[in-house]
This record gives sequence, C-alpha cells and structure tokens, in this order.
Amino acid sequence: MKIDLHNHSYYSDGVLSPVELIRLAKEQRCDVFALTDHDTTDGLTEAKVEANKLGIKFIPGVEVSAMWSNMTIHILGLNIDIENEALQAGLKQHQEFRAIRALKMARGLGGAGVVGAMEKTQAVAKQGMITRTHFAQMLIQEGVCKDMKSVFKRFLTGKKPGGVGGQWAQFDEVIEWIHVAGGKAVLAHPLRYRMTNTKVKRMMSDLAASGCDGVEVVTGSSNTDEIALISQWAIELDLLASSGSDYHGWPNQRVRIGRLQDMPNSNKAVWNYW
Ligand SMILES: [Zn+2]
Ligand SMILES: [Zn+2]
Repeated sequence: MKIDLHNHSYYSDGVLSPVELIRLAKEQRCDVFALTDHDTTDGLTEAKVEANKLGIKFIPGVEVSAMWSNMTIHILGLNIDIENEALQAGLKQHQEFRAIRALKMARGLGGAGVVGAMEKTQAVAKQGMITRTHFAQMLIQEGVCKDMKSVFKRFLTGKKPGGVGGQWAQFDEVIEWIHVAGGKAVLAHPLRYRMTNTKVKRMMSDLAASGCDGVEVVTGSSNTDEIALISQWAIELDLLASSGSDYHGWPNQRVRIGRLQDMPNSNKAVWNYW
C-alpha cells in the first residue's frame, strides 16, 4: 500500500489544483492520499470528488500552524470533519492573521526597496491565501534573491525587513480543534524546525502530554537515521506514526507524491484507525 498523508494544493502554497494533485497521486500509484493545506480546508471537496472517481482512498486533512515555546510548529489534522464549527472558527482566525501578516510583510519589504511587493506576491498566489512562500517566490522571481534559503535568511525571518512573528493559537488549543472535528492530531516534520534534538524531544513530549495522537515519522526528505530516531521517540511517548511527503509541486522540489521510505513501526500507524 502506498500511503501519503501530507500534500499541498494551490489553496495554500502548493502549485497544483486539488484535482491535478489527485491525478498525479493516481499516476504514482498512491492508494491512500491526504490533502493538508495550511490553515484551510477549501480544496478538500474538489479533491474528494476526484479521488472517488479514480478509486483512491481520500483522507481530508489540514496543516495547522501553532505556537510551542514561542516558536511556530505545524500540526496536521487528519481525517477531520470539515463542517466542524470549532475547527473552522480556529482556521478563520489563522486566515485573518495571514492576511494581516501579508500586509505587514509587504510594508517591511517596501521599506527595504522592494516596490509593489503586495501586488507582485498576489500575482504569484493563485488563490486568496498569501503565505511566506509566495513572498519568497516573488523575491526570487524579481531577482532580489537566488534561492529559498537565502530569501528567508535575508528577508523573511526575525528582524529582517519582511519578518513578522507568528501569532498562531497555542499547540494544545490546535490539538483540541482537531479533536472536536474528529481528527487525529499529528506533529508534522519534527526535524525541520530550527531546534536541537533535545528540544525536539521536549516538544514531542509536551504535545503527547496535551493529547497529540501522533508524529510524522517518515517525511519526503527523511533519511534512515532520522526515521529510526523519531520512530524510537514515538514508541517511548506512545505516539502513533504517520508518513507524508509534504509535496508542494514546486519545480525545484525533489519529493514525489507517495514515494516514501517504509515505516519501521507500522503496527502503530495512524491509518490503522481508519
Ligand atoms: Zn509544514
Ligand atoms: Zn506541509
């Protein structure tokens, strides 16, 4: 079985439409697929219709930003009820913050000499949501920076011109939104945050204590050692294991839908509950 529980469409910072994503997942022989856009469920219905047509088991999901210890982390809500009011109210708060943050970022970049930052970034984003990735893409297109790494470092983090701190809900609140919507809360890409391994384990332990169900043990960019480490910690903390590529469809992204390494402890997989 090929299972991929972490993917983005153009309703957040991915490139493809939900329908294009499902068709690609089919081409890659994916059996179970979750769409998990940032702080929105807008693409889920379109994706579900296409998945039903093509015989793929579709898991409605969302990737919610959250604060842990003053840092932004990502928590996936998997197999959620998209009609749930508490979840939608929470996501709406985050969408409003994203809109305000985009204006602040554009203002900051304007101060640093980037003319028309908002309009140019809006042109990059295909749907309403404007993410930091869209600003980064715009700055690369404009020739201000050469790649994602330098653009975030020089412009979009901390006290840099386009840096705006996250004002997301606390992690325990986000876990609660996901639970009331009937979903499983899963910490996304645990080794991709800017923190030491000791801190990562502390974060996982705090989340587990707040009822988080699982952690992404396998991601599209994990190596064997990373998978073994997170798998071990998941067992210690009694967290379920998930697997997802975090596919966005960016031209320079190496990851493919459904092309994921095996999970060591599949008896504790989050999908065993569906
Ligand atoms: Zn993420
Ligand atoms: Zn993601």
